Amino acid sequence: MDYKKIAELCFPDVKLTTEEIEKRYPPRKLDGVQVVSRYAPSPTGYMHIGNFFQMFISYNLTRVTNGIFFLRVEDTDSKREKEGAMDVIYQILDRFGIKPDEYQDLDGEVHGNYGPYIQSQRMEIYKAYAKKLIAEGKAFPCFCKKTEGKEDVLKLRQTKFEKDDEKEYDPCRNLTVEEVEEHIKNGDKFAVRLKTKNDGSQRIKFYDLIKGEIEAKANAKDFVLLKNDGLPPYAFAHAIDDTLMGTTIVVRGEEYIGSTPAHLELFDALGFKYMTYCHNPLICKIGENGNRRKVSKRYDPEADMRFYFVEGYPLDSILEYLLNLINSGFEQWRAKNPDADWKEFKFGIDDITTVAPIFDLVKLNDISKNLIAKIPGETLYQNWLNWAKEFDVDLAKILESDKDKFIKLCQMDRDGSPKPRKDIYNYSMIKKEFDYIFDKPHNFEIEDCDKEKANEFLAEYLKNFKMPQSNEEWFNGVKELASQMEYATDNKLYKQNPEMFKGNTAKVCEFIRVALTGRKNSPTLYTIMTILGEDEVKARLNKKF
Ligand code: GLU
Repeated sequence: MDYKKIAELCFPDVKLTTEEIEKRYPPRKLDGVQVVSRYAPSPTGYMHIGNFFQMFISYNLTRVTNGIFFLRVEDTDSKREKEGAMDVIYQILDRFGIKPDEYQDLDGEVHGNYGPYIQSQRMEIYKAYAKKLIAEGKAFPCFCKKTEGKEDVLKLRQTKFEKDDEKEYDPCRNLTVEEVEEHIKNGDKFAVRLKTKNDGSQRIKFYDLIKGEIEAKANAKDFVLLKNDGLPPYAFAHAIDDTLMGTTIVVRGEEYIGSTPAHLELFDALGFKYMTYCHNPLICKIGENGNRRKVSKRYDPEADMRFYFVEGYPLDSILEYLLNLINSGFEQWRAKNPDADWKEFKFGIDDITTVAPIFDLVKLNDISKNLIAKIPGETLYQNWLNWAKEFDVDLAKILESDKDKFIKLCQMDRDGSPKPRKDIYNYSMIKKEFDYIFDKPHNFEIEDCDKEKANEFLAEYLKNFKMPQSNEEWFNGVKELASQMEYATDNKLYKQNPEMFKGNTAKVCEFIRVALTGRKNSPTLYTIMTILGEDEVKARLNKKF
């Protein structure tokens, strides 16, 4: 069969040869250790935590080997593409300070020698390889029409392939030159399919860096390389791009293991060396039936990366949490190196988890609490404000209008404290945590039998109230008044003879605390007073329970 002629009939305008293309992509000069890997998202929606996880593995493998991390946009599925999705991907990487070594700006500027890095701009390359494979008799044009109507589609599916359990040969694989010529003359559109060499009896083995050796049935399907709109599905674009771009390790989700035999046959047909794969386990949750299930955007708000930004998790907590999922050794490392930058944590391929990690928000919150506990008050204020500017503009205005007060709030039980507070895990919760600073408290809970005593004590306290200048001064003042009003200032004595007193100092502090904050627990009252200011303190102490 004159395959060259068929190739020429299919692609008369494609003059670029694969030799010319390969000259444009010389092998990379690497030192043998350096990993070249990539993040290859399809712009089909908001970024999923699983995608980010995979990207982060890829990024770290290149980071620890001083290798090359590049970003390739896989935008060849126009039906699934969502507008703006690409911007989101770029913004997210940018937010985390993850800058690929090679990428392409959305407005076109290419950074790196192995571009274009946007697949829709690589059509001439895919066509040249499709033409080559047809010319070598390894692929063929398929003119089967996509029929409208459900019944037709069903019929087509049942009858189209010479299909048994073992193989799927497309009827167009044996079209003659004349038949192809006829179709082309009629202006019939065609897809390009691989002419598989296998008949379903072969098995292959391949090695995955995480899963080890995998044995599977070899591909025996004439699968599509170019759709009839000229766009390449994943397999073809992957084989060509990762080869030309010099990828040394393809990190991708384990859902691709099943199609790897097809990819490998394609590498053979193209005369390319096999890729090294690292199929990472997918992040899971435990479902209601107790089994693991994939984290899904449909059921889990935390599947969408936006969740973390809206909630205001510090970015490093998210990264540290993911490192923890990638390699459980991270936790030990962190315990030994409490103040080190996470970037000092090194891990290799052998350290990547082989089982699907379970996503656990409680653990993330824990990591985040520890991290926030270490942030100095003024920086915490700034982070909180930056978060508010994006997600709660009204709050941002308030935070800016009274900067000193809110810095003080952030410094409370933190700067210089031997036991900094560890209850905050994201920025969106701070306002709720300190609602009494923003608003007068509404719910005052105090026991009925204490109400009269509280009113009596607060009235007296207010009568002589002067803004204290130190915690000590404040507490001494409270104790003095307590003692005058027959409250015990010596707790031991109080416990021995409770009937001699109206209560103890803790009780009067509770009166003041509830009046000022509406809560029975709060940080040091002295600090809260300095934040509220004298007038507000007086207004709140003027309270009748
Ligand atoms: N575009 C593919 C995806 O988002 C890339 C898979 C890969 O990394 O090879 O699933």
